[in-house]
Amino acid sequence: MSLTANDWLKKIRELPLPEKIKVINVCGGHERAITTAGLRSALPEAIELIPGPGCPVCICPEEDIYMAIQLALHESVILVAFGDMLRVPVNVAKGEIRSLQQAKAAGADIRPIASPLEALHIAQHHPDQAVVFFAAGFETTMAPVAALLVQGIPENLSILLSGRLTWPAVDMLLRTGQATFDGVIAPGHVATVMGAEEWTFIVEKYGLPAAVAGFTPVSLLAALYSVLRQHVEGRLFLDNCYPELVSAHGNKTAHTHLHHVFTVTAAMWRGIGIIADSGFSLREARYDARWRFPDCATNASNRKRAGEMPAGCDCARVVLGQIYPDGCRLYGTACTPRSPVGPCMVSDEGACRIWWSVGIRS
Ligand code: SF4
Repeated sequence: MSLTANDWLKKIRELPLPEKIKVINVCGGHERAITTAGLRSALPEAIELIPGPGCPVCICPEEDIYMAIQLALHESVILVAFGDMLRVPVNVAKGEIRSLQQAKAAGADIRPIASPLEALHIAQHHPDQAVVFFAAGFETTMAPVAALLVQGIPENLSILLSGRLTWPAVDMLLRTGQATFDGVIAPGHVATVMGAEEWTFIVEKYGLPAAVAGFTPVSLLAALYSVLRQHVEGRLFLDNCYPELVSAHGNKTAHTHLHHVFTVTAAMWRGIGIIADSGFSLREARYDARWRFPDCATNASNRKRAGEMPAGCDCARVVLGQIYPDGCRLYGTACTPRSPVGPCMVSDEGACRIWWSVGIRS
């Protein structure tokens, strides 16, 4: 008989936990499930469950968003992007256009999409117009982008790529000690594509317990219990608590596509800096919007304060797991979903927005 969420909570409460134990949940989807279900309030006080870097919109380099805005405003392109991206603000002088949403209101042709296929369809319906797909996301988004490129895309479609790998960010956190944790709940969606084995480095390199979780309270609590029990018993391994979808080595077809169209490079994470081997880069320049619009690309990366968060915004510390969202001075005062200062309050996967949307007040 399978266990319920209450059964897992009871098992967690029965563990002889230390006074404090910190576990990071890497994925924005996990954070949403944890917060919406109110899991933190049901856990023993000793457990700190910290949201981590798994929000692609939050860490998307500010210069990439700026370039998308400039392309849409000045290069007569149709700019397509995932909906969350439209409201993310960039650092510009007062009075200048600071988001794709503002650029759209000013007359630029910017279209929100929900999947890479929509970008293809828009390009096919407008063969005489340049279409740029601003593709920002983690492995789960990059796999369908790669599949699209493998199938072939029309001449008028190019990609402004801002793809990232999640494990190098967690590796960087653990290596540098920018934040310290006693265990890791690894992202189920990413593991579906890349395989659970990708997360064994947490156990082997850092001697920490780890478990891959799905997106239900039951799966998350099972993973948390596994991490806590491993810690208590000192018996470490990578536990796959999402076996219905996650295999050891992931989706082989997706791997082949990713390798075929992308190389892995060092990449900028907004507010955090450059992380080695954490970015996808297009192998073929002809698909690359930065190659087709080089002046725009140069202007974007040469700007003062490129890559930084807005003044006063603590998104980088939230994403690094150094503070909870309500530890930011602007949370719920200057920064709310209606008037977001930083990307963590814009994105559905941003911890600040998730906390605010379920009514957590600082
Ligand atoms: Fe940034 Fe707003 Fe979150 Fe503060 S509350 S970290 S300003 S998004």
